[in-house]
Amino acid sequence: MLRKTMLALADNDFVTRTVTSNRISRDLAFRFVAGETFDESLASSKDLLNAGMMLTLDLLGENLSEPHLAEQAATEYCTMLDRIAETGANSTISVKLTMLGLDISDEFAHDLMIRVLDRARIHNNFVRIDMEGSAYTQRTLDIFYALRETYGDTVGIVLQSYLYRNDRDVEQAIERGAKVRLVKGAYAEPETHAYPKKVDVDAAFRRQMERLMDDGNYPAIATQDDAIIDVARGYAMRMGIDKSRFEFQMMYGIRENIQYQLVEAGYNMRVYVPFGEMWYPYFMRRMGERPANLMFALKNFVR
Ligand SMILES: Cc1cc2nc3c(=O)[nH]c(=O)nc-3n(C[C@H](O)[C@H](O)[C@H](O)COP(=O)(O)OP(=O)(O)OC[C@H]3O[C@@H](n4cnc5c(N)ncnc54)[C@H](O)[C@@H]3O)c2cc1C
Repeated sequence: MLRKTMLALADNDFVTRTVTSNRISRDLAFRFVAGETFDESLASSKDLLNAGMMLTLDLLGENLSEPHLAEQAATEYCTMLDRIAETGANSTISVKLTMLGLDISDEFAHDLMIRVLDRARIHNNFVRIDMEGSAYTQRTLDIFYALRETYGDTVGIVLQSYLYRNDRDVEQAIERGAKVRLVKGAYAEPETHAYPKKVDVDAAFRRQMERLMDDGNYPAIATQDDAIIDVARGYAMRMGIDKSRFEFQMMYGIRENIQYQLVEAGYNMRVYVPFGEMWYPYFMRRMGERPANLMFALKNFVR
């Protein structure tokens, strides 16, 4: 309910203008967003890197349907890969196909991905394709598997446990050796496509996480849910799965204490670091995930 409301507000022009121009909401957003530029985001992540964590940098933005803007986004992704190489930061990048013109056509986004992946290959880096709303799932998977034929493990995908289809998608990824980041899913989905109840989403996540830990290609377990993180640790221990065979991923600015604990305990820990000027939809998704965040925001607003 909260998530649906926040996502609807994210599409409302008046609310968008009010929130993005207000200093308090901007300050709050920058607890979850590492800065507006690449350099700011690296500076904000310095302590994480020094503690031995890895990053995946995410240039914020989505749904670019003007060809020149999507091309500009591809150039910016390439520049990010160059700057990561120059600075030596231990970081990959995450991209969204709707930033690369998926709303224009599959072919358009596919061709821009080739540009980004060629650059990643030069730098021996890795590009993860984030997963967006269910209207894009199959198209995103088709483009990913086509790119994987040429680029192999330079490219990875995200699968969302809240979708009914996800057990099948996980099995396909295992069969084809794809590198998967498993998440619960962040978009407002209808009951025809996704489990409406959190308890079912959590059960699916656990089931699929165990499948990927057993037979997947270096899966990324991406969650802020400490109960699930404990299940993953316990499962790895019981099944004799070495810590080097998977990684945990968490978001910048959320439950940092757990991020430090995991890296101190010897787990591979990667932080998803969003940056850029188009922070509003990302911020609204994070608000919709946790009532306490929203209450904090509202209290500051009223004050
Ligand atoms: C690294 C990473 C990459 C992601 N990539 C994608 C993607 O490509 N596509 C996609 O659809 N989704 C993505 N997500 C988001 C994901 O789908 C969930 O919406 C999000 O992670 C919240 O679910 P959860 O697993 O943390 O558990 P939840 O069940 O939502 O939360 C469990 C507990 O974690 C804490 N928590 C969760 N969220 C917050 C928050 N915002 N602030 C403070 N505490 C919080 C709370 O204590 C909560 O009780 C990504 C998440 C991560 C961590």
